[in-house]
Amino acid sequence: MNPRKRPNILLVAALGAGLFFVSSSSGTPEKIIEDSRFFMGTVVQIKVSIDPAKIGEAKAKDAMSKAFDEIKRIEDVYSVYKDTSEISRINRLRKNERLQITDGAFNLIHKTLDYSERTDGAFDITVKPLVDLWGRARKANKPPDEYELKRVLGRVGYKNVVLDEVARTIHFKKEGMSIDLGGAAKGYATDRAVHILEENGIDNALVNSGGDMYCLGKRTAHELWKVGVQHPRDRNKLFLEIKLMDRAIDTSGDYERYFIIDGKRYSHIIDPRTGYPIGDNVVSASVIAADSTTSDILATAMCILGEKGFDIIKSESAGIDAVLVTIDAGRLTVKMSEGIRKRYDISEETL
Ligand code: ADP
Ligand code: MG
Repeated sequence: MNPRKRPNILLVAALGAGLFFVSSSSGTPEKIIEDSRFFMGTVVQIKVSIDPAKIGEAKAKDAMSKAFDEIKRIEDVYSVYKDTSEISRINRLRKNERLQITDGAFNLIHKTLDYSERTDGAFDITVKPLVDLWGRARKANKPPDEYELKRVLGRVGYKNVVLDEVARTIHFKKEGMSIDLGGAAKGYATDRAVHILEENGIDNALVNSGGDMYCLGKRTAHELWKVGVQHPRDRNKLFLEIKLMDRAIDTSGDYERYFIIDGKRYSHIIDPRTGYPIGDNVVSASVIAADSTTSDILATAMCILGEKGFDIIKSESAGIDAVLVTIDAGRLTVKMSEGIRKRYDISEETL
């Protein structure tokens, strides 16, 4: 077919499991290679778009395999479920006992503490004793009593975590403290995977760690990566489709993970200032940022802060955007930052 007469659409044909051949309207063939693995309790998917004239398929697959290895490594380092993880070693520290940690852990913890400052303590990795308390409550099928909750709350607070920049150590100022990077690790894993892909010659890719996504470059020469945000009450529906290039997006909310105690539904996101799981006003928060660690952190923080979170989004210099879905008396409402409102035609009324 004469390339000039081609309609301006992409022809996509399946070439076997997970592998798609995409022919762009310009006639330049691009190949999309796709693979997924199960890590961090979720499905991690990597799509790589290559120009076969520039990079061979074997090389691209090798890059993907290295990116998956990196995610596995991150899971091993940051999981609170593995006794041997660096995080578990940190969590066994007594008051004022110092531990030298790897640069990766140091920098990630540093970043989360920074965001604790900026979010008025809404995002706080020292929430772990509360996560454990609510976990026990779920097992006992009974909410924790006030007294116990107050006691546990005394062991929470990012200001009691000390990082020594020179000695590269961490210590806690109080006894019984522990950290949980569950609100940032998937985003961090995504960023690391993207870094490994780039290091291995990949310029265009999409990494999706269970919803924590990063769009590197473009899908094809003429098309950006398109990311759908699921309707918060209808799994089969998308309520927003966003085209991104070199940006991360993440959604946190009450509809994916929650637990039930005595018939009442509780979010897995806990407000570290009150000790209670967040209420049911916020349904979901999606955040677009320059990196996936930031969007992961801020999506969790927005769920706690609700509309007040937009003040933080605005004050961040690096062009961060957010979409917040709230519910009031059964009515879903969407609120969005300037950047989104300008670019996308979605109503702020009921979904
Ligand atoms: P998901 O795991 O569904 O992507 P999030 O990114 O919102 O969800 O992270 C939620 C996890 O973060 C919780 O399971 C818990 O481990 C941790 N967490 C809960 N509350 C907070 C908080 N206020 N600040 C930081 N981390 C939190
Ligand atoms: Mg998060």
